Amino acid sequence: MDRPQISLDFAPELHLFVSAPRRAGRTALRTDGTSTLGHVVESLGVPLTEVGALLVDGRPVPDGYVPVDADHVTIEAVARPQPSLAPPRFLLDVHLGTLARRLRLLGVDAAYENPDIGDAALAARSAAEQRVMLSRDRGLLRRRELWAGAYVYSHRPAEQLRDVLSRFAPPLAPWTRCTTCNGTLRTVTKTSVREQLRDGTERSYDAFAQCTECGQAYWRGAHHARLDAIVTDAVREFGGVPG
Ligand SMILES: [Zn+2]
Repeated sequence: MDRPQISLDFAPELHLFVSAPRRAGRTALRTDGTSTLGHVVESLGVPLTEVGALLVDGRPVPDGYVPVDADHVTIEAVARPQPSLAPPRFLLDVHLGTLARRLRLLGVDAAYENPDIGDAALAARSAAEQRVMLSRDRGLLRRRELWAGAYVYSHRPAEQLRDVLSRFAPPLAPWTRCTTCNGTLRTVTKTSVREQLRDGTERSYDAFAQCTECGQAYWRGAHHARLDAIVTDAVREFGGVPG
């Protein structure tokens, strides 16, 4: 069988996924003549969740297109913000616990399980609950069962949060969700959560909330200064009610 020779040019945003020679510009590749372009791109290390348009000689093609000899392929990065999955709900892999808590702090639905339930179970849950799988694991993002997925580009939680908020633009509703379990919070009286309060808390604060799932009590206090800063920064940049 003929093995077509094609050329590939990856968008700069995708360069971290491909080998160094492919970051320099257009490079040649001999394909097997039967693989789809989506498979070819994936086999070079790029999760399809991160790919926007695929162009052949400037024309958009689906990822099921089978490249032929002399095709000039351009691989674009996913658009930001991504077309809305409104409102997006997320599922985070086991390495993203801090990001999960920060999303919840902002009222974003962010499911997370620790210990690790494994890639197959995560992918099945993404499909069953229509959640966007957030991960830094390319193998997980390649799983066909996923409802939707996104690579998280940074190791640092602050940058991870900006990455997700800028990409999916979820509506923010700070202080409405339990950072421990992702349950929603309801406003409660001080009396009903008194037994969970430390000395001093009861005297100092009047605004209390409780998780409808796990019962955890929340109140606004000085020890929340760091969390307040995360909320203030996110709302300033991405909108929403500070709470
Ligand atoms: Zn809870």
